[in-house]
Amino acid sequence: MHADLVAIGAVVLAAGLLARAGRRIGLPSIPCYLVVGILLGPGTPGPVLIEDPAELSVLAALGLVLLLFHLGVEFPVEQVLGSGRRLFLAAGCYIGLNVTAGLLLGFALGWGTAEALVIAGGLGISSSAIATKLLIELHRLTNAETPVVLGIIVIEDLFLAFYLALLAPVLSDATSPLGFVRDVAISFGFLVLLFAVARYGARAVGALVGSREDELLAVLVVGLVLLVAGLSEQVRVSDAIGALLIGLVISRTRVRERVERLVLPLRDVFAAVFFVTFGLSIDLGALETVALPAAVAVLATLTCNLAAGVVTARLFGLNQRAAANIGLTVLGRGEFSLILVTLAIGAGLDGRIGPFIALYVLGLAVLAPLLAAKSRYLARFIPDGLLRSRWRYVREETISTACTHLDQISVTGTDLRECPQCVAEGHGWVQLRLCLTCGAVGCCDDSVGKHASAHFTRTRHPIVESLEPGEDWRYCYLDRALVRPPLGREPDATPR
Ligand SMILES: [Zn+2]
Ligand SMILES: [Zn+2]
Ligand SMILES: [Zn+2]
Repeated sequence: MHADLVAIGAVVLAAGLLARAGRRIGLPSIPCYLVVGILLGPGTPGPVLIEDPAELSVLAALGLVLLLFHLGVEFPVEQVLGSGRRLFLAAGCYIGLNVTAGLLLGFALGWGTAEALVIAGGLGISSSAIATKLLIELHRLTNAETPVVLGIIVIEDLFLAFYLALLAPVLSDATSPLGFVRDVAISFGFLVLLFAVARYGARAVGALVGSREDELLAVLVVGLVLLVAGLSEQVRVSDAIGALLIGLVISRTRVRERVERLVLPLRDVFAAVFFVTFGLSIDLGALETVALPAAVAVLATLTCNLAAGVVTARLFGLNQRAAANIGLTVLGRGEFSLILVTLAIGAGLDGRIGPFIALYVLGLAVLAPLLAAKSRYLARFIPDGLLRSRWRYVREETISTACTHLDQISVTGTDLRECPQCVAEGHGWVQLRLCLTCGAVGCCDDSVGKHASAHFTRTRHPIVESLEPGEDWRYCYLDRALVRPPLGREPDATPR
């Protein structure tokens, strides 16, 4: 470590300033940090603040370790295991499509088998940081599809743990098949050992690092995390997976919430150093040579994500807007892709993999927030036949679980199949709506009379249901959204 404090300080400050400017136009932090690293590094003309990225390697490793440790601490094991078959199907489809596309692209590039496996992971696992930030910034936390999005993110994290364990021996220098088998065994043995500690030894670990004082708790925990991460690397399991698993152990202790809070600012600062350092190692000239594969990768991910979004929406009976929201929210790639590539570069794999993934991450990290905010327009183009119930009329509407007017529902059906007011006025209508408070039937807003909306304006009865054959959606005028009860509490998932 020879980089002086002036250079480190200037680089980190520049990263923070660019990220703050990026926030104004809705960009996540990760691409901003990468760009600062690329611009101020030795591979780009202009000012070079840090000659050799290796000078920051210890600080960057700290960022990587804390990123995965924090992920482990906040990982809701019980919630995932109890989340039902549909969610695992949806996540499996999402991960399967993206990893397969990554693997095919990796082999098509012809850089090698280990490289293809790293690319498959890098393309397959989305950024939890970008996805959760998007959900908050776009006010989608109470949308019907949001629990599914969060479930997919969490199951992806679980997949990451196993993928890291699988990659560890691939990235080690074992040459004989026997050595390879031994490395796989060590890697998974270590995984099992730490899972066992999480299951049975959490109390002991809690006693080892526990302290009433925040200062001492932070020091003890960070010490333990670095020690376990370092030891993992010694037994040729990556430091990343060691950090993730000790996070899982800590998540089962009583100090979990305090640790989560104390480690967060440390994680954010050192993760910024990690992303900047990654950018520093990128040569601007090398970016040109990987531009085409990176563009293909971005397109492949976009396609797989939308396909997975449609499959998921179909599984859960959601509409086109929800399908677009699911696919586009988890579109961003970031920390995990860069962590995998850092491990690959450390193991001496093909150097092109660094600029390739950097450009891919940059592209998607910029694209994801822009597209996710415009999901409504995309929802127009998803064909009706792909989803389970008919949503033609309301394909662009948000489905919310936050409606507080469900207690005003006292009617659930009617035999009436005409708009009485239209009949009285002597003209036709387009579609019919049923008021779920008083049972009045009125015509939709595309009809001449607009009698359903008029009924709401007069009576303030909030919720209507579509009377179209094959449709069963409910709309709340007060929330201006389609409404349904939260996941798992649907009375009947299939349309009547
Ligand atoms: Zn409502
Ligand atoms: Zn009418
Ligand atoms: Zn009414």
